[in-house]
Amino acid sequence: MNLWGKTREELRQESVRLGFPAYRGQQLHDYMYHRGVHDFAEMQQLPRALREVLAEVHSVDFPIVVKRQLSNDGQTAKILIRYRDGALVESVLMHHHYGYSVCVSTQVGCAVGCTFCASGQNGLIRNLTAEEMLAQLYVFKLQLGIAIHSLVLMGSGEPLQNYREVVRFMHRCADPEGLQMSYRNMTLSTSGITDEIYHLAKERLPITLALSLHAPNDTIRNRIMPISRRYPLPELMRALQAYSETTRRRMTCEYILIRGVNDRPEHADELARLVKPLRCHINLIPLNENEGIPLFRPSQTVIDAFCARLQHSGIAATVRKEMGKEIQAACGQLRLRFLRQTPV
Ligand code: SAH
Ligand code: SF4
Repeated sequence: MNLWGKTREELRQESVRLGFPAYRGQQLHDYMYHRGVHDFAEMQQLPRALREVLAEVHSVDFPIVVKRQLSNDGQTAKILIRYRDGALVESVLMHHHYGYSVCVSTQVGCAVGCTFCASGQNGLIRNLTAEEMLAQLYVFKLQLGIAIHSLVLMGSGEPLQNYREVVRFMHRCADPEGLQMSYRNMTLSTSGITDEIYHLAKERLPITLALSLHAPNDTIRNRIMPISRRYPLPELMRALQAYSETTRRRMTCEYILIRGVNDRPEHADELARLVKPLRCHINLIPLNENEGIPLFRPSQTVIDAFCARLQHSGIAATVRKEMGKEIQAACGQLRLRFLRQTPV
């Protein structure tokens, strides 16, 4: 059995099951989650007999970091990690004035296939388990000895198409015996899986929901986000309204600015009308250009004008501070490069 992700209580029980005292399970827990030791042979405080039986019947499947990049200002680090089956995902660590935040991947690849996104280019490979998502946080925590303050589910994958594991993961992050994170410091970003937004509202988690909106109408959205054909905007807006009424949490809408596609003044006006009832905050994101995808970011003048126009209509809008652009910190870019360079 893979012991990575097991709780303190589960490890204590396992120790007893193997014929050792419960506190040995506690020691195993400390090795795995506090000291970053994942090889039973190196757990010197455990009796040799226990180390041997553990090695025989169990493993600790902790991912390996295969690539690491640090941004020029030293505030953003991106890693590419490989799970036991060879699946590759990326995670990003960002340093903010309030602490460290991690951008977590929820799936290997993504089935949604937005045209601008590197993660969706090869479709979905598989879902990640809650334990595998947890390992992304622990890679940073254990290697750098830091506390993780917040997390954003904005790496590769559509979190609401891996609903059960994503919710389980957020619970694990909030576990008082584990990372002790606050739900308020967790943001789930979705391309808009309407049915699951209703589900999520029922969980009543005080997380922040972020919608990847990216277009002011279905004509443009259909072109860049195929999911919109399945869940058109009027239906999606109804779900979001219900979500914010149930949870009473302010949500965020993300809007990537793409030159000649969604960046005109009339798009800003249409967007303002669309989101007004949601009372959300709009994050404008200048497109991160991808090799091989013929979409480009607008000029800074166009970006600033778009933002000003929204603000003028009474919408709380800001242009997102870019972190680690030179290390391909946007969704899936590092993995795609790596896959193209290395035959798999
Ligand atoms: N699947 C979810 C979460 C992961 S994507 C979603 O789509 O919301 C996280 C964010 O990165 C989304 O807002 C997505 O639209 C954005 N993103 C993807 N490709 C991008 C690119 N090339 N430039 C800028 N943002 C991008
Ligand atoms: Fe999937 Fe999000 Fe990328 Fe769209 S933007 S392909 S939903 S990861």
